[in-house]
Amino acid sequence: MRIVQKFGGSSLADLTRLRRAAGICLEARRRGNEVLAVVSAAGDSTDEMINLVREITPRPPARELDALLATGEQRSAALMAIMLEQLGAAARSFSGWQAGLITEEAHGEARLLLAVPRRLCEALAAGLIPVVAGFQGRTPSGDISTLGRGGSDTTAVALAAALEAGRCEIYTDVDGIYTADPRLVEGARLIPAIDFRDMLTLARAGSQVLHAESVRLAQAEGQPIRLLSAFTASPGSEVRALADAERPALAGVTRDEAAHTVTLAGRAAPACAAALLESGALPPESVLDCTAGEDSAWFRVKPGEELAVLRAVHRAVFE
Ligand code: ASP
Ligand code: MG
Repeated sequence: MRIVQKFGGSSLADLTRLRRAAGICLEARRRGNEVLAVVSAAGDSTDEMINLVREITPRPPARELDALLATGEQRSAALMAIMLEQLGAAARSFSGWQAGLITEEAHGEARLLLAVPRRLCEALAAGLIPVVAGFQGRTPSGDISTLGRGGSDTTAVALAAALEAGRCEIYTDVDGIYTADPRLVEGARLIPAIDFRDMLTLARAGSQVLHAESVRLAQAEGQPIRLLSAFTASPGSEVRALADAERPALAGVTRDEAAHTVTLAGRAAPACAAALLESGALPPESVLDCTAGEDSAWFRVKPGEELAVLRAVHRAVFE
């Protein structure tokens, strides 16, 4: 089987972790698969570059910021290829543009338009492990572009779809997708499978687990995603199209501190939100109003009350 494996920044933060990630690629290879890796910038290096630029100016030219930020993923790709070679596998790194990823003519949050991964196909055919720098591409006019924060997930999904991979695995520092961020909500439960629609609601409403655009693309391409921990043997979570009978009525809840919202995802969310408001289970002084979508409901909350409302909703619905 052909497998795309994406490693996030925390999975590559130091050489020990890089070696572990390389080991995951090699293990998949050992089981007879073709493997292609997509990598993020190591640790907090993207934030560090942004902070460095802020010391020069709050408004850098978008083209130059992209040229700078893209180096984080390129560095990871070259290091991963060197590590894989050292561990005995033949590997080759590719920048986003070498990998044939074309974006719209924009910077900072450019949408991927096209993947023409000819060089990746050649590398796979030659028995190499291609290692692709995530989060970046090339505009039609030939400039370096980036896909928005967290965009390496989107690189992985785009390549999995373009290369007709049997699996798209995203390795991160959490065990999978939870009913709420387990770092914030103690009672959060792991979800073994979540529908594209519910994951898209959560990703757009502030959940950091997957880049929202990667979920939109995965849904459009019918490309399931498996989210796994790079550090534990947990089976993780799968994001795919679930039949109505398999799809839980309520999937999860998330908060967006900048937008001052708490969003409940699932087809029963609108009815559930209305019942919650009526029952008094939510702190009434914190919730300003509630809007229902088709498969979601979002509470507008008083600035600063996002976490309290998130916890109250989770307690009432999932615990
Ligand atoms: N390095 C980029 C970021 O920190 C992209 C990514 O990690 O997916 O947002
Ligand atoms: Mg991420």
